[in-house]
Amino acid sequence: MSKLLFVNACIRDESRTKLLADAVVKKWNGEVEEVDLTSGDIKPLDKETLKVRIAKQEAKDFSDPVFDLAKQFKEAEAVVIAAPFWDYSFPAVLKAYIENICVHDLTFEYNDKGDSKSLSKVKKVVYVTTVGGDKQELVYGIDYIKTVFREFFGVKKTFAFKAEGLDLVENAGREQEILDETLKRIDSFSFEEKTLADDDRPNIIETKNLTKMYGNYAANNNVSCHVKEGSIYGLIGRNGAGKSTLMRLLLGMSPANEGEMEVLGKKNEEVAYVRKDIGFIIENPTFYNYMSAYNNLKYRADLIGLKNPDAAIREAMEKVGMSDKMNSKVKGFSLGQRQLLGIANAILGNPKLLILDEPTNGLDPIKIVEIRKMLLDMNANGTTIMISSHILGEMGKLCSCYGFILDGKLIREVTEAELEAEAIDVEEFFVDMAKGGQNG
Ligand code: ADP
Repeated sequence: MSKLLFVNACIRDESRTKLLADAVVKKWNGEVEEVDLTSGDIKPLDKETLKVRIAKQEAKDFSDPVFDLAKQFKEAEAVVIAAPFWDYSFPAVLKAYIENICVHDLTFEYNDKGDSKSLSKVKKVVYVTTVGGDKQELVYGIDYIKTVFREFFGVKKTFAFKAEGLDLVENAGREQEILDETLKRIDSFSFEEKTLADDDRPNIIETKNLTKMYGNYAANNNVSCHVKEGSIYGLIGRNGAGKSTLMRLLLGMSPANEGEMEVLGKKNEEVAYVRKDIGFIIENPTFYNYMSAYNNLKYRADLIGLKNPDAAIREAMEKVGMSDKMNSKVKGFSLGQRQLLGIANAILGNPKLLILDEPTNGLDPIKIVEIRKMLLDMNANGTTIMISSHILGEMGKLCSCYGFILDGKLIREVTEAELEAEAIDVEEFFVDMAKGGQNG
């Protein structure tokens, strides 16, 4: 039976963290095994302890309880860790404990008997912590924890649940409300990556035999696609395959010749009425060159009727790392900066649905990673995303579901779970399909 390992490391009173972690653990359908580290002596390993451990390992004396922990991690399919936020280094300490590695000031010293990626076999790792500090602490702290899991444990996807106004200093008196809000988000969390057929969430986008003709050419040919609420749907195809055409149809920017569609509950030509509720980038974003970045975003904020445009603009610019360009005129922006402004424009007001056509075009590798993280966070907080990109490795780190489009036809839709079951990654799958292999 599938096992979840629940590591409780709430060393001091961390009742809120424990409460949230319990809510996450309840979502698991199989066996749960709890490891209580609260009474243990959790601290970075020193060289002496490591030496003793290596000697025991070599003598095949596995009496040290830490060897059990390593074994338990390897056997688990999912791990939930509840830990206090004030101990940023806890993931590193945990790594040391389960992998027999010595940690000094966050530099790792490997034991050559250690298994450096033991967590990568664990499909899901949920790290539960609560933050009461300032925003900087929140952003950098969460980032640090995620980086350790990604880079050192090899965990592919990491995400964070956030509640609005998590800063408890600023929000004194709202603690219960914030906790309830977070519990609500956890309620929609699921450990299972389902196949499309098993996924009972409603479709936020659905099309049936949608066809778009340009003269005699069908740029979209009988396209039937299904984007589940809460998913990240990657639209994959070569240049000219028909991705932008489909996105334009879904936004009601151009009419279909045949077929039906429903987007955010609106049907066919009525989808144009919900365009203001969708954040989007289609092809290259265009802006008023002689207006500042702020005023360009203000234009859209007013158009879609945002209640607090100033706060929304600041939040969006901050999320894409362009706060310092707020008052600069767009005419001086590089291609990448325009693209980032396009993304800020799309995420303005945290829309329920994002439709993004090649959003990472022209971005440098660091920005690509930052935007990926931002999209994963928005998704964990309820935004559904349809995205197209040629960078398939990037799509593999982001998407939970894919639609493959070839010469205007949507050939197949698959979930990440289905690809995982076939032990194939999205790039291999697509290349095989495009060459007319068995995946087609
Ligand atoms: P993708 O986004 O997958 O690169 P597009 O949807 O932009 O592909 O284009 C699909 C096909 O439709 C291409 O062959 C393209 O040349 C054609 N096409 C797109 N827009 C128009 C248009 N406005 N008029 C004529 N042909 C078009």
